[in-house]
Amino acid sequence: MTRLASVYPLVTTRALARPFTYEVPDGVEEGAVVEVRLGGARQRGVVVETGVEAPAGVETAPVGRTVDTIPSALVELALWIADYYGSTPGRALALVAPLKRARRAEKPPPGLRESLPGEPAPERLSPEQERAVERIVSGLDAGSGENVLLYGATGSGKTEVYLRACEAALERGLGAIVLVPEIALTPQALGRFHARFGDRVALLHSGLSDAERRDERERVATGDARVVVGARSAIFAPVRGLGLVCIDEEHDASYKQDSDPRYDARTVAAKRAALEGAVAVYGSATPRPESWERLERIDLGGRLGGSLPPVRVVDLRREAGYPLSAPLLAELGAVAARNGKAILLLNRRGVAPALHCRACGRTRRCGQCDVALVLHADGRLRCHHCGYSEPAPETCPDCGSAELARLGAGTQRLERELETRLPELERIRLDADAVARPGAAAAILARFAAAECAVLLGTQMVAKGHHFSGVDLAAVIDADTGLGLPDFRAEERTFQLLTQLAGRSGRDAPGRVLVQTFQPDARPIELAARHDVARFLAGELERRRALGYPPFRHLVRIVVAGGEPEQPLQALRELRDALGDAEVLGPAPLLRLRGRHRAQLVAKTEEPRRLAKRAAQLLAAASPAMRRAGLTVVVDVDPQSV
Ligand SMILES: [Zn+2]
Ligand SMILES: [Zn+2]
Repeated sequence: MTRLASVYPLVTTRALARPFTYEVPDGVEEGAVVEVRLGGARQRGVVVETGVEAPAGVETAPVGRTVDTIPSALVELALWIADYYGSTPGRALALVAPLKRARRAEKPPPGLRESLPGEPAPERLSPEQERAVERIVSGLDAGSGENVLLYGATGSGKTEVYLRACEAALERGLGAIVLVPEIALTPQALGRFHARFGDRVALLHSGLSDAERRDERERVATGDARVVVGARSAIFAPVRGLGLVCIDEEHDASYKQDSDPRYDARTVAAKRAALEGAVAVYGSATPRPESWERLERIDLGGRLGGSLPPVRVVDLRREAGYPLSAPLLAELGAVAARNGKAILLLNRRGVAPALHCRACGRTRRCGQCDVALVLHADGRLRCHHCGYSEPAPETCPDCGSAELARLGAGTQRLERELETRLPELERIRLDADAVARPGAAAAILARFAAAECAVLLGTQMVAKGHHFSGVDLAAVIDADTGLGLPDFRAEERTFQLLTQLAGRSGRDAPGRVLVQTFQPDARPIELAARHDVARFLAGELERRRALGYPPFRHLVRIVVAGGEPEQPLQALRELRDALGDAEVLGPAPLLRLRGRHRAQLVAKTEEPRRLAKRAAQLLAAASPAMRRAGLTVVVDVDPQSV
């Protein structure tokens, strides 16, 4: 008798988002990745069920060869992602069954190239670390899919807890996945995993070549590598017998994917842990309110062998000299005098965020997006939304005046000011412009690690988990940059950024932190200056409870874009009325992007899947009309920015 199986072809077309029935030979089971013929073309497909019956009147065809096999837990995980995030099974299965490239000659694994020497293993753990490891190991042994929050200040030894938990998993014959926000920015953490586990570590991230990724996945699939370290997508690594998932810097927004399927690796980690009976450990010095409210908390306490540095707030309404105020210059001068190191954060690239004409008052803007063009050191104006650039004009293109003012400051201007004011300090810049080449980030961080009398300056990249010895000053040039954003997470982000940056100073010496701001009384700034995480989160949760924001309700964001300003708003008004009972904010117009007018609806709901499904049905019904009108739509469940 012919054996039949349900197969999802790995295609993106929504019209083909259903299983097809094929004949399979013996030995082909759930999780097999097979070649199939579909509409005359050859596709890959994933077997999701065997022993099915053919629908009436359907003539089945045999599958081609089996090209890969993925664990059945990953099949289940992908189908859940497709449902929860309103994507398609084909797109979600492609995450767990990526295309395999041809084999390449033996080459060393990429891990070493990406890593910097990390701290050596401590002789013994602190009592808090001991307790944390014990708690996680009890979860490993229970195998019941628990989630815990590992909360501890920067420098409290979270990485060592991950390492010990991974060791315990390996001793039990289990595998582990360690997620980090941006692997290029964490070469030191990687170095520690290499030093501890050698070639039992596999590295998975988007910076690898296709061949490298294939080799690393294969080492994981065969069980040669039992510990996977990687960015967001490493949550789909084909680890068999998964016992542990660690999510480092769990507050980091890069865990959310911003293209379909719009999954959040933190939510997916909890689901995968539940499916496989693994422990998920969420670690941060500045946890999300969501995790603070919901997860069992393991408190690692303060910094090992020291206290957090004092923070001085500089009121920019009273101090002249922006971007370098007199108190900051004095601190930097002291750093230079001691041959020390400093880290400066300015969360804007370029020279000046706007070029403004003093005569006619106009600011040069992007023709396609509703934002000002940013002046860069190469003499060009660039749009940070769409990438458009043009030479900076000598005179105002509107009125001809030569009085063009450079408003505000970006990292490149800060670099120049430092060169003029404190030439004895070596300047090392870390921002998206500086790390455009692969490997550039690790080289920049290595240079700063080896430097004496140097300042690392850059965007929020400088605040990510680095650990450099000898940093005795960390400063924020303007702490309020992010507070003006119309996003309910603006305060949380500002608090996290300031607290994380403050944690870079004084890890092995008494350090100082200086925060320049125009709003010294703003809650996130005041509380970050006191390192008061608990108080900030308590207030944040109170506010979110009152307003019905996460974690008390889920958000579903629907964005429509079109060629005319009114169309997206109109389409969303119709959708809002059809959604009926749900609590919906908007529609509100958004900034124009790449010439497209955009608007959004934000729904607050206890049942995000039901709401997203309802919205998807309504949008599917409206889709011919929307297509004719040139409108596109995105539905985002649990968005990270609104
Ligand atoms: Zn002008
Ligand atoms: Zn633009």
